Amino acid sequence: MFLYKSISALQSHLEEVRRKSKTVGFVPTMGALHDGHGSLVAHSLNEGNYTVVSIYVNPTQFNDAADLEKYPRPVSSDLEKLYELGVDVVFLPSDEQMYPKGDESIPDIPLGHLGDTLEAAYRPGHFEGVVQIMDRLLRIVRPDVLYMGIKDLQQVAVVRKLIEESKFSCDLVGLPIIRESNGLARSSRNERLSDDDRKEAALIFETLKDTWRNYHDLSYQELKQAALDRLNHQPFQPEYFEFVQTDSLEILPTKPEGKKSVSAVTAVWCGDVRLIDNMEMPSAS
Ligand code: AMP
Repeated sequence: MFLYKSISALQSHLEEVRRKSKTVGFVPTMGALHDGHGSLVAHSLNEGNYTVVSIYVNPTQFNDAADLEKYPRPVSSDLEKLYELGVDVVFLPSDEQMYPKGDESIPDIPLGHLGDTLEAAYRPGHFEGVVQIMDRLLRIVRPDVLYMGIKDLQQVAVVRKLIEESKFSCDLVGLPIIRESNGLARSSRNERLSDDDRKEAALIFETLKDTWRNYHDLSYQELKQAALDRLNHQPFQPEYFEFVQTDSLEILPTKPEGKKSVSAVTAVWCGDVRLIDNMEMPSAS
């Protein structure tokens, strides 16, 4: 496994790789790696890609300074995990590499409603930071295939838009949510939950599952009310619970006609830790 901290060294290495006509698979992460990241890496490797993983806690996508400060950074155990997984290259840039002085430009990508609903509404500036860092990473790594988790459903839609608008020649593969044994979606932020809260946080998955079960029998208004009532339970506090069109993330006030995929998406505070999750709803019968 190669480890690069400098952009130019990484780029010359990847030039060599591309000369041997290997396809490059890329998994961008913020570290504190868990099985969710592991699944993205395994997919890239299984599909025969030369696999690059970046670890970079991007400051510009944090709208909350305390969240950035508390974000876990266990770099040496992350490197061990990536070595065990058989990753080819790890890119571990510094802030100076990613944001050299004077260069804080953000590509002007028309995000439309993706830029102002759900996560964008509750985390102002977050997706501008995501677009900024992903644009830079994609220009540096130039992957053939980018692997991302649909746990961050809106992020996948935003990055898809970036790829289209900036004409990156890269496929984006969105992969399923990996969960803890009680159903809690794996997240680096779960490390900050107490043992009790981590157990109790199964409530989020249970609520999504109940919504799935009752989907055909109740209206969106009834399903939403039931979900919010259930999630509004100490130490949890729901921020939103909505039904969206899975690809576009457009919020649906009522059940749509036809067979378009619908997902329930939610964000829930547990103390000072913000958790997000989603589930695709059963298709129209
Ligand atoms: P992060 O390190 O949180 O920025 O996540 C890096 C990538 O891993 C993103 O594409 C996430 O969507 C993905 N990811 C995070 N958690 C999970 C999970 N539980 N299951 C699948 N993918 C995940």
